[in-house]
Amino acid sequence: MTRKPGRPFFANPGPTNIPDSVLQAVAHASIDFNAPEFLAVYDAAMAGLKRVLRTEHEVFAYTASGHGAWEATLVNLFSPGDVVLMIDSGYFSQTWAAMARALGLEVRTLGTDWRRGADPAALTALLREDAGGRIRGVLAVHNETSTGVMLPPAALRGALDAAGHKALLLVDTISSLGCIEFRMDAWGIDAVVGGSQKGLMLPTGFSFTAASPRAMAAHAQSRLPKYYFNWSNMLPRRTRSFVGTVPTSLFYGLAESLRLIEAEGGIDAVTARHARIAEGVRRCIARWSETPGGGPHLYCTDPARASDTVSTVVMPAGHDAEAVRRVASERFGVALGYNLGDLGVGALRIGHLGDLNEPMILGTLAALEMALAIAGVPHGRGGVAAAMDFYAAA
Ligand code: PLP
Repeated sequence: MTRKPGRPFFANPGPTNIPDSVLQAVAHASIDFNAPEFLAVYDAAMAGLKRVLRTEHEVFAYTASGHGAWEATLVNLFSPGDVVLMIDSGYFSQTWAAMARALGLEVRTLGTDWRRGADPAALTALLREDAGGRIRGVLAVHNETSTGVMLPPAALRGALDAAGHKALLLVDTISSLGCIEFRMDAWGIDAVVGGSQKGLMLPTGFSFTAASPRAMAAHAQSRLPKYYFNWSNMLPRRTRSFVGTVPTSLFYGLAESLRLIEAEGGIDAVTARHARIAEGVRRCIARWSETPGGGPHLYCTDPARASDTVSTVVMPAGHDAEAVRRVASERFGVALGYNLGDLGVGALRIGHLGDLNEPMILGTLAALEMALAIAGVPHGRGGVAAAMDFYAAA
């Protein structure tokens, strides 16, 4: 394969671009994970992670991708035959539900229109029907990475409270944490799942669960089999996490990515940047859609729910999203996300999260606009210009 000069553009919705200083921090020599100099880095990184989660509760970490944290969360909270309610939102909610079934849980589903996401009132109504309180957990994906549709965790908490239901509320923040506003404690979330390779701008390799006191009480009763993931095996350890070798180099990286977040002005500044960049992307896509017969358009139909980290773009009927993605990759070296899950339409995904600025996303959008033209997909002209106008004025 001939070399493509220049930096390849990585616009997948995870993993994400790793800042140079984080790459350098990760390139750390092996160190005893009980050495005081490492424990100081570890403690500071875990404290910083809690600030990003906006929690004072326990955080348990695992050497695993997000799937590991999904599994850890389920096995630590539930027992064989327990009923959980999954808020269906797309590929990732369905995969987490499949995992729950495989682990021996009974999974009920709140069906939704994936393009808008769940209505909290429908959740309240469904929970009211569960008069016997059989449902032990409500599971939600904050930001569904396949559809680019967000759910409002605070409103879901409100829905449980309105029903007077005692189920635990579990939220997957794998593609939202560090990018989209999230407040574990203030919003009353019982268990939060997160991972290293998206908003935290780290390599893939560690994931975690934050657990509220109610979650810890449920953990004490849980009977699903567990060992490496068992929170009770972690608590007596000095690190209160990791049943086994601690991935030390990732913690040097985490310390650096947390420093970068602080240096940008803190998590609020980071979420504001994600909102700004996402709005430019949406304006670009809206312009592309303005062509006779309709052009590429956003999968999400509710502007209030449109994700600030990933935009799923539907191609007009008869046009192949995969062909567009291939052109962007092969001609311009831009990696976009592919269609994930049964969306019922052809789509590709633009990731706009992590270490990203306006020129980087404009480069991606320009490559995609060229790819649309090359692949013969009808689209309104001036999408990139619409994004530029927005960024210039923002
Ligand atoms: N949940 C969400 C929302 C995700 O986006 C992903 C991965 O992209 C996962 C879970 C699974 O995480 P992993 O691929 O790190 O195992």
